Amino acid sequence: MAIDQKLLDGNKEYKEKYYGEDGLMLDLAENGQKPKYVFIACTDSRNDPAIVFQLDPGDAFGYRQMGPLLEEYDPNDSASVQFNSHVGFYVNAYETPKAYIMGHTKCGAAAALADDINHDDITPWLIPAGQKALNRTKEKMGELPEDKEGRTSFLRELEEQMIIVNREHLLSYPKAKAAYEAGKLEIPTILNEIETGNLYELNPKDNSFFLANDQDTFEIGCGCSHENNNE
Ligand SMILES: [Zn+2]
Repeated sequence: MAIDQKLLDGNKEYKEKYYGEDGLMLDLAENGQKPKYVFIACTDSRNDPAIVFQLDPGDAFGYRQMGPLLEEYDPNDSASVQFNSHVGFYVNAYETPKAYIMGHTKCGAAAALADDINHDDITPWLIPAGQKALNRTKEKMGELPEDKEGRTSFLRELEEQMIIVNREHLLSYPKAKAAYEAGKLEIPTILNEIETGNLYELNPKDNSFFLANDQDTFEIGCGCSHENNNE
C-alpha cells in the first residue's frame, strides 16, 4: 500500500469523529456546505489554518501559496483570471463574509527573499510581489543586517510587509474589490507567530499590528520548574 499508516490511522479517527451517530459530515454531505471563511495562507506546514484555529469540515475554504505572495490582478494572465473567479465563487455563491490572509514568522519565503536566493523552484513565486515587500522593508530598515538580532527584526518586518502587500493585491482582483466595497467581504490579515502561537492582526488604517488572541490563557515556553527544564 502506498498510503502511509500514519495517514490511515488519522483517517480512522476522522471517520469516528465526523461520521459517527449525528456526525457533522453526514449533515454536510446531505445538506451541503456553507463555509464562513476563506483562508489565503502560506503553505508552510506550521501555518495550517485548520489546525491553528481547530476548524471542522465545512468551516473554511483554503487557498495555500508560498508567502502568501499573491500577484496583482492581471486580466491577461490565466492564473490571475482563475483566482478572480475563485474569489467571486466564494463570495457570491456561498456569501463567505471573511477572507483571511495568514502569513507567519520563520517564513522560508521571507528568508529566501532577504537572502536574494535565485532558484528555479522558488524565484518565480517571489517576484514581483515579494520584491515589493522587500523594497518596503529596506526603505524602513536599510539593508539586511548580518547580526542575528538585526536579521530577526528585518525578517519580522518583511513578513509583515508580505501580508500587507498580499492584502493590497487581493483588493486588485475585481471580484474581491467589488465585494469589499459593497461591505460584503472583510479581509482580516494575520501574522501567525510560530514561536508562541500568538496571532498579530493588521490594522489597515496605519499598517500596524496588534496582538489579537489572549496570551494570558496559556503559559507558553515558561521558565518555571519543569523536570526537564534546561534553564
Ligand atoms: Zn511561509
